[in-house]
Amino acid sequence: MNKLLFGTAGIPLGTPGSSTIDGIRYVKQIGLDALEIEFVRQVYLNPASAADVRLAAEETGVRLSAHAPYYLNLNASEPQKRRTSQAVLSRAGRIASLAGAENIVFHPGYYMNGNPEKVFGVVLGYLSEIEEEFLREGFSIKLSPETTGKLSQFGTLEETLSLCSRLKNARPCIDFAHLHAYSGKINTYSEFRQVIGTVSASLGKDSIQNLHLHVSGIHYGHRGELKHLTFEDSDFNYTELLRALIDSGAGGTVICESPNMEADTLILKKTYLELLTSE
Ligand SMILES: [Zn+2]
Repeated sequence: MNKLLFGTAGIPLGTPGSSTIDGIRYVKQIGLDALEIEFVRQVYLNPASAADVRLAAEETGVRLSAHAPYYLNLNASEPQKRRTSQAVLSRAGRIASLAGAENIVFHPGYYMNGNPEKVFGVVLGYLSEIEEEFLREGFSIKLSPETTGKLSQFGTLEETLSLCSRLKNARPCIDFAHLHAYSGKINTYSEFRQVIGTVSASLGKDSIQNLHLHVSGIHYGHRGELKHLTFEDSDFNYTELLRALIDSGAGGTVICESPNMEADTLILKKTYLELLTSE
């Protein structure tokens, strides 16, 4: 059974036109299943345009998620900057929810030389407030903190899973390229199985049925992630990852963050379908 859906991080490069709706239609046309709306520089939709995006997604059956701005830092040194970051994330989540996105992906912040446990408490506090607010106002969108590829940034696999287990409506974004860049490891079948096992142990077996994953090639150094690469230019072992996901019975959405976007996303989907039929 085809349990994993595949989509691009943003509007595919070959899209005729430049709107999110054009991107959604193109994703469907080339045989992909999902799209992550990139609010990474700014939340570029408003409630009215978000409603139109939702209609296009419903019409095509393309599954949506969104990525909040990169610049937010819930652990900024100045309290005012933390509140601004919280407001930005909250707004990104509301607009994404109106656009029909299931979850809002984000990097919670940086350690700023702080004690990781203390930073965890700070981040959890701000996220809990957002969650309360969403629940109160009827936004069902899930918060998806993402695993980081940078050593200076909050969000190891353990921190991310622990955050999600303490929130009421969260779903982690496991970025396998980041996990690989962070450690220089996690690039073999057994290591991938181990990561999936850790998620299952921490959030329950059902969590494996609806994962949110990021995958791409990656260039990294001793401080972790440097930049995303195509699969061809990188050492990332996506075939073994897909095999590990299939053998774990994993379902959910795989968003490909390669610079050549839909080309690598199509490679992922094709490889996945081939592995499924060869099982
Ligand atoms: Zn990512």
